[in-house]
Amino acid sequence: MTEPERADRSAWEGEMFRLLAENVVDYAIFITDPHGIVLRWSKGAERLLGYREDEVLGKSSDLFFTPEDIRSGKPELEREQASRSGRGDDDRWHVRKDGTRFWSAGVETPLRDERGHLRGFAKIMRDRTDVKRLQEADRERERQLELLTNHVPVLIAHCDADRRYKYVNRPYAARLHRTPSEVAGRTIRDVIGEAAYASIEPHVEAVLRGERVEFEAEVTFEGGQSTQIMRCAYDPEFDDEGRVTGFVAAIVNVTESQRARNALRETEERLRTLSDNLPRGAIYQLLAEPTGHRRFLYISAGIEQLVGVTPAEIQADASALYGLIHEDDRPRILELEAAALGGGVPFDCECRLWTRWGSIVWIHSRSALRRLSTGQTMWEGIFMDVTARKEAEQALRDADRRKDEFLAMLAHELRNPLAPIRNAAQILRLVGAADPRIERSTAIIERQVQHMTRLVDDLLDVSRITSGKIKLQKGRVDVAPIVWRALETARPLLDARKHEVAIELPPEPVWVYADPTRLTQMIENLLTNAAKYTEERGHITIAVERAGDTVSIRVRDTGIGIPQEMLTRVFDLFTQVDRSLARSEGGLGIGLTLVKNIAEMHGGAVEARSEGRGKGSEFIVRLPILPEAEPPSGARASAGSPPAEPRRILIVDDNPDVAESLSMLLRIAGHVVHTVYDGSAALEAARTFRPEVVLLDIGLPGMNGYEVARRLRQDPDQGQAILVALTGYGHEEDRRRTKEAGFAAHLVKPVDLATLDAILASVGAKTGARGLPKS
Ligand code: ADP
Repeated sequence: MTEPERADRSAWEGEMFRLLAENVVDYAIFITDPHGIVLRWSKGAERLLGYREDEVLGKSSDLFFTPEDIRSGKPELEREQASRSGRGDDDRWHVRKDGTRFWSAGVETPLRDERGHLRGFAKIMRDRTDVKRLQEADRERERQLELLTNHVPVLIAHCDADRRYKYVNRPYAARLHRTPSEVAGRTIRDVIGEAAYASIEPHVEAVLRGERVEFEAEVTFEGGQSTQIMRCAYDPEFDDEGRVTGFVAAIVNVTESQRARNALRETEERLRTLSDNLPRGAIYQLLAEPTGHRRFLYISAGIEQLVGVTPAEIQADASALYGLIHEDDRPRILELEAAALGGGVPFDCECRLWTRWGSIVWIHSRSALRRLSTGQTMWEGIFMDVTARKEAEQALRDADRRKDEFLAMLAHELRNPLAPIRNAAQILRLVGAADPRIERSTAIIERQVQHMTRLVDDLLDVSRITSGKIKLQKGRVDVAPIVWRALETARPLLDARKHEVAIELPPEPVWVYADPTRLTQMIENLLTNAAKYTEERGHITIAVERAGDTVSIRVRDTGIGIPQEMLTRVFDLFTQVDRSLARSEGGLGIGLTLVKNIAEMHGGAVEARSEGRGKGSEFIVRLPILPEAEPPSGARASAGSPPAEPRRILIVDDNPDVAESLSMLLRIAGHVVHTVYDGSAALEAARTFRPEVVLLDIGLPGMNGYEVARRLRQDPDQGQAILVALTGYGHEEDRRRTKEAGFAAHLVKPVDLATLDAILASVGAKTGARGLPKS
């Protein structure tokens, strides 16, 4: 090419660049010298970078770089790269004239002459800030996705239709001891191994057919070390045409919860087996609303056997069971339930239920209460059939009652024949006899009758005391006179056995609130025992001591003693330490039971002490002392009664022995006596004989004593007669009845002559002594 040609061409090229630079406004195009000084400037460059041509020509193109890039030498590096490789990348942030930045996708090209000398650079840039921002947003989303998926306890994998991993979260990769990037891009089979893949392959195929798949698999990890239960869900991924492009797998390890569920199921199973096999019983769970409404959440099968109603019926409606509660027990149950609810105490009761077949079962129900945060109360408990026990208890009570009734009747029947025997003996003594053998025999009869009477009385007393039928006539009494009286009564036995008795009494009175008769009986029993269970010529001490607000009455002997293990048992009914003992004054094992009961009825107690066999015994009765107050109301038992006036006496008794002997006794005492054996004869005799006093047996055949009394009372002529009941019964109840029927006195057979005398004397005082001349 010639010089002119070359010049021509150069002009043309210059023109071409001018045109290009003028017309292509979407690109910033400019040329620099080898050092980056701007030589040419296009319209597009002006538009993108904001500089006019005259502002930048001759200036360094470094002007467009960010200060950070300038500091790190980016402009030189770019030029160096361009001149070395023919192309310099210029993808970076640039700065406009106004200071704003834009992301440029650009390229820098070296310009060389024919000889290859570097003459400068051409630079083309384009604003790609939008694209850059989108990319950044994408990356941010990805980062967030990773953040999320890596921190959930779920293994997540995204696979394509070629069964290759596109993405897995960190937990998924970690299960396989890899990092997510090690897994991405590889096939599932390759990553998890042939065997594992075989087990999931059908599911993978299914999801790739477009189905949603859910399954549970037991997976063995760490070379068979542990087996885990994994719940997997595969969701297919579709493109716009509905073709399956891959799937997302979410896998949760449910080993723990599954095992817990299994354990729970087993426990439940066990509980059910147990409760369904409860012999005659059932367990239940009952939910009570604050409104009072109840619902059985559960009741075991045993309930059907018990009452004939099925658990389903009861669970549907609690009244199916509640309705079975026996009407007499219902109020009590409701009360107990309210108490349990109010006090948070366990509910515990025994009650009767009607069964579906009309019989009654006794159940014992016990439940614990749990208050729920909802205000409801959960009752969890058990029903047990206690019918057999209840029946046995009832049978026992019945037997015990029959025994008591039998004892009472026996004592009563035994007492009846004693009356005539005693009367007969008294007659023998009164009529007197020269023959000393009669005298001795009389004494024997009297002693034995007395002994028999005591036994029978004890028997009667104990059956009344233990059945609570006795009422005490309590008053303010001094202990010392009581001790004396008891001593008097026990004296014959004490003397007979030649015991030496020491008495220790406090100088001042000790007041107790007591029934003097019972108190005397109690001390007498202790003295009699001391006398009986001590060899002849023993030493017996009776001592009364006060200690604070208690008085103790001690009876000590030097007798056979009591073994340790019997010290408390001797107070039990019919208990005797040694039944084989030859006892001239043998008892029935009742005395100490009486002592204990009497002591307790007075708010006191009794205790036995002994060092053992042959070491003597001591019985201590403790009673509460009454506070010091006014002296007693002259209540010392009057020793003697004034001698009886002769009276007209009608005896009515169907037992001829009783009637006869009593009549003889009264005649000997100087009274006028008439005897009849039944009620109508009594009414008849009353009219003709006109008695002042009628000794009337209550238990008459036909018309009984009450009836006779009533008719006598109605008869205006007989209204004056004093009625005295003669009966074998001395109960409170009997006394009350005779009193109500108008009897002036109540005598228990066998009649004691002294008592009868006293009554006749007091009768005289009341009637104004309508005395009769002695006949
Ligand atoms: P009983 O004397 O009729 O057998 P008790 O109830 O009075 O019945 O006494 C029960 C038993 O206690 C007596 O049988 C006797 O074994 C024993 N016992 C009572 N008092 C004494 C005592 N002072 N010394 C030794 N044993 C006694």
